[in-house]
Amino acid sequence: MNRPPDAVWNECLDIIRDNISRQSFKTWFEPLRAVALDQEEDESKLTVQLPSRFYYEWLEEHYHSLLRKTITKVLGSSGRLFYDIVIEREETEVDGSRIVGGSMQLPARDPDLGRPTMDISRLSVTGLPGHFGTLPNTPPYTPPYASQPNGDTVEGFSSPVPLPPPHTNPHAIPGVRKPVINPNLNAAYTFERFIEGDCNRLARSAAWAIAENPGATAFNPFLIYGGVGLGKTHLIQAIGNYALENNTAATIKYVSSERFTSDFVRAIKSNSAGDFSQYYRSIDLLIVDDVQFFGGKEKTQEEFFHVFNALQQAGKQIILSADRPPKDIAGIEERLLSRFQCGLSADVQMPELETRIAIIRRLAEETGTQVHPDVFDYVATHIKSNIRELEGALIRLQAHAALHGGEINLEMAREVLRDLIVEAGVSLTVEEIQRIACDFLKIPEDLVRARTRKREVVRARQVAMYFSKQLTNHSLKTIGLHFGGRDHSTVIHAVQSVEDQCDTDPAYRDMVEAISKKLELHTR
Ligand code: ADP
Ligand code: MG
Repeated sequence: MNRPPDAVWNECLDIIRDNISRQSFKTWFEPLRAVALDQEEDESKLTVQLPSRFYYEWLEEHYHSLLRKTITKVLGSSGRLFYDIVIEREETEVDGSRIVGGSMQLPARDPDLGRPTMDISRLSVTGLPGHFGTLPNTPPYTPPYASQPNGDTVEGFSSPVPLPPPHTNPHAIPGVRKPVINPNLNAAYTFERFIEGDCNRLARSAAWAIAENPGATAFNPFLIYGGVGLGKTHLIQAIGNYALENNTAATIKYVSSERFTSDFVRAIKSNSAGDFSQYYRSIDLLIVDDVQFFGGKEKTQEEFFHVFNALQQAGKQIILSADRPPKDIAGIEERLLSRFQCGLSADVQMPELETRIAIIRRLAEETGTQVHPDVFDYVATHIKSNIRELEGALIRLQAHAALHGGEINLEMAREVLRDLIVEAGVSLTVEEIQRIACDFLKIPEDLVRARTRKREVVRARQVAMYFSKQLTNHSLKTIGLHFGGRDHSTVIHAVQSVEDQCDTDPAYRDMVEAISKKLELHTR
């Protein structure tokens, strides 16, 4: 008898869940779906859909043995796991893998052979982590020394600002061929202080794996891209800080692409380009921030290209950031762009509301500032552009409280952040009102649009209708339509009923007022 694939997979998930951390489970297994179970006489084949090729690499690298044991336990020794990978980009058919309506099927590693059934290094697809295609003929590079990462770090270590340029050639030290490497990391940028959300989960997970094993994962280079102030610098430096603290890389260097450029220009002027090259080639974990600024700088690009290849061939880790996807970076040579993309590219996006609240709350806690919880809501609701602005808002509130005393409450926040948060004209949609009211009353939001007449649902629905009438310009008819196509007379009745109950029941009135306050956070 054939069981549904879901049921079999859920059984597997129960086992997996007990064997790995909650976070890893959430990241790597929750997004997977079972799509087929083919049970034949001598084989039971479970096919699981993966959101991207990256999952395939990751699962095979990190969870291969767990998956194999789990499948054997659930399906018996004839159990086999297959992956159905959703294809993000245009792909060509490869090595016996099938491309089926925007997805591709790959078998999990063959348990008997103990290696991938399919040689993934022969997949000629862009975006597949860890495979370069052909490299130009650069001789493998052996670092002339292995320096300790304690060189001249003290000065630059806790400073968020790059060190000022040294007076003399920074790359050559007379009499000694060992360049001293300043990691140039900001100690505040750690994983512990980086809040995870859907917006950055993939980037963070990969960053973590790289930090533990620089150069040894398939994610080399690792490129993080995304808009300004979304945590790219924080995350790439967190890798460096972790590696420094845990000694997973001997020599670490964080450098902005601008700094790399200006140092290179200076090296050429002082006839020490060779030392410059040697300096960068002796690094085990090289982090280059904002590579889009290499655009248009041909000589620097060429130098970086060679450094990149040398490090890559020597198995060293390269981490890059950019403010946009690599394909949109202007003025960078194709060969370098394709290098950037041959490892893993992961984007970071603006965090969703909950993550924004968590970030600003954490910041306030770290600085020991007393802030009324409404303020977190208010600031995070209105500042959606980037995290740096979110931080800026909190710093401004702290400064104001320090200068003038007083609690950081909603009223003060409104006053102090007036020019930052343009409140006027922000109006709520009926859906937002439904969400906020249901959130407050702890009712699943879709129920107010459903047919149910359960008491708590009716109460939430009526309150949401009441506020929709008050706070939007919609007609009664339109409001009714937003509530699962109800009649305008239902809306009239709801408004009347809320008003009546407010008059007669103080507890009810308090509830309506509390919701009103929540809604106000979003409108003004
Ligand atoms: P980017 O390099 O993308 O422009 P940054 O890394 O400089 O952005 O981040 C801007 C500020 O926001 C930094 O102070 C950083 O610590 C903070 N930040 C960004 N993302 C997060 C996050 N997920 N958790 C905590 N702080 C964050
Ligand atoms: Mg940055």
